Amino acid sequence: MRALAGRGEASYFPDHGHDGYRVGHYDLELDYRVGPNRLAGTARLSASARTRLDRLELDFGTFRIGRVLVDGRPARFRHRRGKLHLTPARPVAAGAAFTVEVRYTGNPSPLSSHWGGLGWEQLSDGSIVAGQPTGAPSWFPCNDRPDHKARYRIAVTTASAYEAVANGRLTGRRRVGANTTWVYEQDEPMATYLASVQVGRYQFLELEGPLPQHVFYPSAAERRVRHDFARQGAMVAAFTERFGPYPFPSYTVVVADDELEIPVEAQGMSIFGINHVDGARGSERLVAHELAHQWFGNSLTLADWRDIWLHEGFASHAEWLWSEASGGDPAAAHAARWHHRLAAQPQDLVLADPGPRHIFDDRVYKRGALTLHALRRTVGDDVFFRTLRSWTAGYRHGSVTTAAFTALASHVAGRSLDGFFDAWLHDKALPRLP
Ligand SMILES: [Zn+2]
Repeated sequence: MRALAGRGEASYFPDHGHDGYRVGHYDLELDYRVGPNRLAGTARLSASARTRLDRLELDFGTFRIGRVLVDGRPARFRHRRGKLHLTPARPVAAGAAFTVEVRYTGNPSPLSSHWGGLGWEQLSDGSIVAGQPTGAPSWFPCNDRPDHKARYRIAVTTASAYEAVANGRLTGRRRVGANTTWVYEQDEPMATYLASVQVGRYQFLELEGPLPQHVFYPSAAERRVRHDFARQGAMVAAFTERFGPYPFPSYTVVVADDELEIPVEAQGMSIFGINHVDGARGSERLVAHELAHQWFGNSLTLADWRDIWLHEGFASHAEWLWSEASGGDPAAAHAARWHHRLAAQPQDLVLADPGPRHIFDDRVYKRGALTLHALRRTVGDDVFFRTLRSWTAGYRHGSVTTAAFTALASHVAGRSLDGFFDAWLHDKALPRLP
């Protein structure tokens, strides 16, 4: 068996994150003015040092830094090229708990990347965060690694005409003068790229289903939103049966009043563009895809971006499962169609290590979905769905790797599937569908 990718190899984004400490909790106090797109923030990070820290660094975009405290004492800092370098007044001892407080102001803007702008972005009348994969530093200072999950408190103050939606439970909402402060607490560990704040003039409705589901949307889209998301409750039930319990206390959908190229995933939340709501469920496959990310991506989060198929392959496969469960084409028909299409495309990609530039290549999504369908064919429905449920239970709110998934699949099947996974995940040539 060849060596599996992902262990001990360099990260896809080595410039992001710092190995010397872990943040356990982010407390973000934000004041956002929609018109001028102005953000003033205080970030308080509670962290623990893995090694002695004479210096440390945070990932952070372009803001004016007001002051920086480490353990309550002013720290020297230098801010350049997306890094905030700090020198604490006293070094932090290895193993010690410590705090960092950063005050900042500025006009948040998306960070440029190979995939276009990432992060906080101004909308025509509000704002959105689309952080995947490395956009979090566009709005708060962080240790930007997907395997460093933390808890969050996010307080957003903005003009009362707007709704502010963030991850987790709404624990406070206070109106003072013309402004409202919204407080959200995210109790389940969350990767930085999944942290999110959405601001807009939204109406709000609650969907029927086995779990609290809220939808925020522009009032003009009400009829279309009610129709297009009407089956989301049934989708939650279908996925719960196949994947195991939904991993968070609630699910929030935001429909922005702007067009978005693709929907955006966040923890406990998905964001759609107004173009994804046509009143005819024309984007229902995306509703299924984004919902599935709550299990695959948000609860179980890749340790490194090379394993992106563990998010996108699974969410794409969930589209087929929803089609099958809701009276559409069976998964086998989708699989046959996509196998045919992929066979006609260049086979120069390794699914379990596509390279940083290709993490959002559609072939990663579709071959990932095909790999799961091929696994289902190989081991049978019972073993396949037991594997998925055991996967989401065993790594709930944790970090995952391809090697962990393939080992688990072999374990549940009671035999080695190494040859199968080598062909689908590590070889470039597209295997035949079993
Ligand atoms: Zn996706």
